[in-house]
Amino acid sequence: MARSTAALLLALFPGLFLLVEADNQAGRTKKELPLIAVGEGDLPIILSAPHGGRQRIPGVAPRSGEEIRRFVTRTDLWTDELTEKLADEIEKNTGKRPYVVIAKFHRKYVDANRPPALAYESPKAKLTYDAYHAALANARSGVEKRFGRGLVIDIHGQATLQDAIIRGTQNGKTVKHLIRKFGKESHQGKTSLFGRLQENGFEINPVIDSITPEHPNFTGGYITRTYGSMNGGTVDAIQLELGRNLRRPENTTKNAQRLSKAIVAFAKDYLPPVQGNKENQGRSLPPHSHWPK
Ligand SMILES: [Zn+2]
Repeated sequence: MARSTAALLLALFPGLFLLVEADNQAGRTKKELPLIAVGEGDLPIILSAPHGGRQRIPGVAPRSGEEIRRFVTRTDLWTDELTEKLADEIEKNTGKRPYVVIAKFHRKYVDANRPPALAYESPKAKLTYDAYHAALANARSGVEKRFGRGLVIDIHGQATLQDAIIRGTQNGKTVKHLIRKFGKESHQGKTSLFGRLQENGFEINPVIDSITPEHPNFTGGYITRTYGSMNGGTVDAIQLELGRNLRRPENTTKNAQRLSKAIVAFAKDYLPPVQGNKENQGRSLPPHSHWPK
């Protein structure tokens, strides 16, 4: 964890500082911060799940949403468990973990996928919002420093296409760096993330190799716009909107396995090589390094 983030977390959650430090010494930061699960990774992949939480934030009233367009308070049910499971499956497939930021707080108190003015309504709620974004920003800069580039996968749920996964990239803008480096195939072809999802049995929208625009309700929200390459940088971001049937608890393990296979296949083609361990932090990786396993 970067020193600056440790300082920020200390300011936000003074009681937890010693626990986080102790964990660092053990070699991995994986701590349940209040209402946010944050895990430092060893891969250029960041999993974010801002809408799956079900817990209340003590001392914070539900948002009223007055005068907010497209005000939503419902949770993206089961996306928190699915994202945790997905991180475990990626580790099984590669021997290494992705970075993880998962909201445990309910969306009716804070919507982490909105800009600040539309996300919360009290100073206390702001602390939770800021902690979520500090964790994402820290993960993004960590990936940029260690690997040079990487991918944020922002995981959501929808009930419009119940058996499908809908892509949200602002029609390619949040993966501008990826497309510039590897061409359109990497974004919409058979070897793109959505091509790999289809290969692993998922129904996807829009279909492969099409110039059909993304579904107008799910083109990618604040997180993909902020942490992708839309405004520069070398980290891209893709929003996955999972249909309700894909999120059901009885399907979690199977679907986490299929999602992991698709993500790892994409990573081997388009994400930087990975090698070794934390000793490599800040050093450039040798050219012969590969994706593990
Ligand atoms: Zn959502």
